[in-house]
Amino acid sequence: MIDDIDDKNLKLDSEELNNICEECKEEDESVTHNLILTGFKLCKSCRVSKTIFPL
Ligand SMILES: [Zn+2]
Repeated sequence: MIDDIDDKNLKLDSEELNNICEECKEEDESVTHNLILTGFKLCKSCRVSKTIFPL
């Protein structure tokens, strides 16, 4: 049952969480991390340049 729910979430997320940075259009696993943590679809380097506040 839990696996079934996870699978649905995974399918939903896969469209959003494709690891493509919206800023530089480069693929990086940090994009997903930043999307979850900050709500911004940015890679590590773009997030640093865009974010003033340290997390
Ligand atoms: Zn980027």
